[in-house]
Amino acid sequence: MLLRDKLFIGGAWVAPQGKQTMEVFNAGNGERLGKIPLGEEKDVDAAVSAARAAFEGWSGGSAQWRAGFLEKISAGLKARADEIARLIAQEVGMPLKLSARIQAGLPIANFANYAKLVREFKFEERVGNSLVVREPVGVVGAITPWNYPLHQITLKVAPALAAGCTVVLKPSEVAPLNAFVLAEVIELAGLPKGVFNLVTGIGQKAGEALVTHPGVDMISFTGSTRAGKRISELASHYIKRVALELGGKSASVILEDADLPAAVKGTVNGCYLNSGQTCTALTRMLVPESKYEEAARLAAETAKSFVVGDPLAESTRLGPLSSLAQLQRVRDYIKKGLEEGAELITGGVELPEGAPPGGYYVRPTVFGKVKNSMTIAQEEIFGPVLAIIPYKDEDDAVRIANDSPYGLAGAVWSKDDAHAQRIARRIRAGQVDVNGGAFNLNAPFGGFKQSGHGREAGVYGLEEFLEYKSLQLKG
Ligand code: NAD
Repeated sequence: MLLRDKLFIGGAWVAPQGKQTMEVFNAGNGERLGKIPLGEEKDVDAAVSAARAAFEGWSGGSAQWRAGFLEKISAGLKARADEIARLIAQEVGMPLKLSARIQAGLPIANFANYAKLVREFKFEERVGNSLVVREPVGVVGAITPWNYPLHQITLKVAPALAAGCTVVLKPSEVAPLNAFVLAEVIELAGLPKGVFNLVTGIGQKAGEALVTHPGVDMISFTGSTRAGKRISELASHYIKRVALELGGKSASVILEDADLPAAVKGTVNGCYLNSGQTCTALTRMLVPESKYEEAARLAAETAKSFVVGDPLAESTRLGPLSSLAQLQRVRDYIKKGLEEGAELITGGVELPEGAPPGGYYVRPTVFGKVKNSMTIAQEEIFGPVLAIIPYKDEDDAVRIANDSPYGLAGAVWSKDDAHAQRIARRIRAGQVDVNGGAFNLNAPFGGFKQSGHGREAGVYGLEEFLEYKSLQLKG
């Protein structure tokens, strides 16, 4: 058991004001993995005061100076990469090898990347008689989810610190243990006191205390659209800047002229990554009516190749879901799919054969003949559940792809790249993969519609944490 009983505030590990704690469970076997303190309003208040006190010194230093700390943090995370990969594999359920590459690898890259970007960033420019300068927003409250926990944290904390902001982090209560490792790494890197603070707790308490704290200038939130709406409402009373990275229901549009086996495989892989607990998961596979039977056969074949098992086992390709609540939610969606008349091609609500006892396992599932109006095509499931939707022609495919409250991501497949790009431009989403194009840490990441607003990653993610100021000069 990893027992954590302190919060990181003002550069020190301090006891929380209240006595409440919360247990963290191992997704692979349901056993207790750790315990964290549940911070309250007073803890948030202390953390915000520390961040405010540190702001002038941190923002007043040079970008080069701040970049030096970011490099140290990146190196510190690298030194603990194996531990982080293993920890998140257990907290979230991602297979260990992937966890090492993604869950531990991306945070290291994020800090290194922002050190480089901020060293090169132009903080001022002359526009006519004005000097336009970029200044940090101030104290940032970062609120993050559990699915890529440390990546989501560092995609906020690294650019916020690079910009000169100070931070209070409220990580997800479902997978919070990795955030303590980050705080230890930051402490070791010698960041000035109060520049980074960690308060664990639940959303409705510690999270809302952060959102409504007058000393917080900006909330950077990643999580569900439900919580994003609530945060927007609360923050509006303070005219606080809010960046929202929310849910998705992304379409993978397979065009008539696509390499069908490669496109189906790419889509299923994109749907099942992290057991479907990915905001950009390709959960709706759109196929021409004429190719439906073949696409359904190929999807089932690919789904069955995902070996379900313990995230720490070498052979596992599909780990468990992160929590019991998530398991229940995904099973309910599978039931809903059946009730609404979708055709179950493979998978279902039963426990997968040979799944380790106690863990939160679900069968890799494919539904066929799905109508886009069905619940499983409209709502985010966050599990390994693919919906295949046949379409008549390209206009129909674009219409279906865009017929969603979300607009986070998508994919288009065609042997003709220009053709795929034409369709990709018509999809109302923040990120569209063309023929399996790879994820790029320097490209803007974020949503249209109810997938949120604001952009993370690359220089766009740095700009999120900057204000413009114009100095009107006389000469
Ligand atoms: P969630 O919204 O339940 O929780 C996210 C965070 O918000 C947690 O730290 C939680 O404690 C906090 N929170 C919840 N209610 C709050 C409130 N009223 N006030 C303040 N804070 C509150 O989401 P989750 O279940 O942890 O994560 C899954 C969701 O995150 C999915 O919808 C997924 O699509 C989304 N997500 C989006 C992106 C993206 O970049 N767009 C990336 C990853 C995950």
